[in-house]
Amino acid sequence: MLTDIEIAQAATLLPIHNVAEKLGLSAEAWLPYGHHIAKLTQATVSKLQQQPARAKLILVTAISPTPAGEGKTTTTIGLTDALNHAGYPAMACLREPSMGPVFGMKGGATGGGYAQVVPMENINLHFTGDFHAISAANNLLAALIDNHIYHGNALGFEHVSWRRCMDMNDRALRRVTLDHEVHTGFDITVASEVMAIFCLATDLQDLTARLGRIQVGSNAAGNPIFASDLQAEGAMTALLKDAFQPNLVQTLAGSPALVHGGPFANIAHGCNSLVATRSALRLADYVVTEAGFGADLGAEKFMDIKCRQSGLRPDVAVLVATVRALKYHGGIEVADLNNEHLDALQAGLANLKKHLDNLHHQFGLPVLVALNHFSHDTEAEVALVDAAVQSWGYQMHVCKHWANGASGASDLAKALVTQLSQASTGARLAYADDVALEEKLALVARQIYGADGVAFSPAAQAQLHALAAASQGLPVCVAKTQYSFSCDPKQRNVPVGHTLLVRELRLARGAGFVVAICGDIMTMPGLPKQPASIRIGVAADGKISGLS
Ligand code: ADP
Ligand code: MG
Repeated sequence: MLTDIEIAQAATLLPIHNVAEKLGLSAEAWLPYGHHIAKLTQATVSKLQQQPARAKLILVTAISPTPAGEGKTTTTIGLTDALNHAGYPAMACLREPSMGPVFGMKGGATGGGYAQVVPMENINLHFTGDFHAISAANNLLAALIDNHIYHGNALGFEHVSWRRCMDMNDRALRRVTLDHEVHTGFDITVASEVMAIFCLATDLQDLTARLGRIQVGSNAAGNPIFASDLQAEGAMTALLKDAFQPNLVQTLAGSPALVHGGPFANIAHGCNSLVATRSALRLADYVVTEAGFGADLGAEKFMDIKCRQSGLRPDVAVLVATVRALKYHGGIEVADLNNEHLDALQAGLANLKKHLDNLHHQFGLPVLVALNHFSHDTEAEVALVDAAVQSWGYQMHVCKHWANGASGASDLAKALVTQLSQASTGARLAYADDVALEEKLALVARQIYGADGVAFSPAAQAQLHALAAASQGLPVCVAKTQYSFSCDPKQRNVPVGHTLLVRELRLARGAGFVVAICGDIMTMPGLPKQPASIRIGVAADGKISGLS
């Protein structure tokens, strides 16, 4: 069995101009970043926005995952390849990997097996430098704040909330003390509000305006101070303007893919840039995109944040499930997931049903199950899932793109095209813009998480009042564990009798949402005892090994 990087390195890549030609893009429409990576120019992005969207938008999401990940990225890529293989012009839209997970526990984020985007080494490390540009813009703002205070503090900063960032898991930087005794810290770049803004901005003007709206601190009277008070937004946009152009790469099968932006899925909304998705909708007939984490978080934020702000609506959802994760929800421990356990599987199916019903009944989306097949899955296990899904009135397709590439997802691709040719009632959001913040949280808690309701810590209660005016009309971004519908990662499957406890509320004015922190959310992760980095090396010819 070859590793992901061995498969990727054995592939023959198309020159990137061939990939661009498949999209009808002429040579002036993109900028080459070497032989296999390009950026669509700003002019191309602007021109595309003038045209009507022509593609169907397919949202790939998942059941509550195990720590290994259930295969959303892999399925997004495999499905795109299968659609193209069947003659339906398709492209994938994905997030850029963060280097934190690359060297940490999870590894890269370019898919796996025979469903990958390439060149995987570049995409997983540095890529076109977008994340470095985002770090630089974030840290320029931090330097401008400090400099303003140094030169007399005319704005009267009493409290600075803006933090520095770096795209690395470095727990030593969580809390730092600057030389004049100011306490601050670093977040990982993907947790920066600049990243969320980058991924929600419609164009360069909107990017500038949103950067200006970032609240960086407050004065002695408790009034907010904004990045625009420091006139920071122009220079920040200058640092970001090249990065803001979507990156074009290819899958192992030569399908075009835009890989652009990568916000966290907890304190941010967890999907690739809006400019990439909008461009793709004008370049292909089918656009397949992934939302981070399980559907309770990823799909909910895709709908209630990205779609609400942009007017986009998906045409269909694909819910990725694995026999492994369903057994995990049925009570089996991680070490034992490769063995057949039909009773546990039967019990764990409740998690799948809840996510399906959420997508279909709460968001009004047609939804198909993609059972991402692992080599240990038994026939009896697969049949059990299939029978259950059918009995609930949905359809399931076994997907083997990880092992077999495009042909492994051909059943799913055909079923999707059929589904998309039928009329549907249209997507809905979970709440209206104008309901109160606590009601938005209560609606998400009750309808999506199956909670009894929402509760606020004393601190969050105070913030609820303080933010009442500023949060009006904004969606809410819940930061909670992805492993459970509840706030407790140990409560698997479909917990009942739980309450969504909000510990803290943070206004992300530039991104245009309120973050509700529920549970322990790490904005600067640490590395595990055996980080993935120990397996990574470079041969004399420059070839990287051990990246996964
Ligand atoms: P997600 O996007 O949901 O986090 P990924 O698609 O990144 O998940 O997959 C997580 C990991 O699992 C990757 O390392 C991938 O190679 C691996 N993987 C995915 N599907 C399979 C499969 N069917 N068999 C074996 N490994 C798989
Ligand atoms: Mg993924």
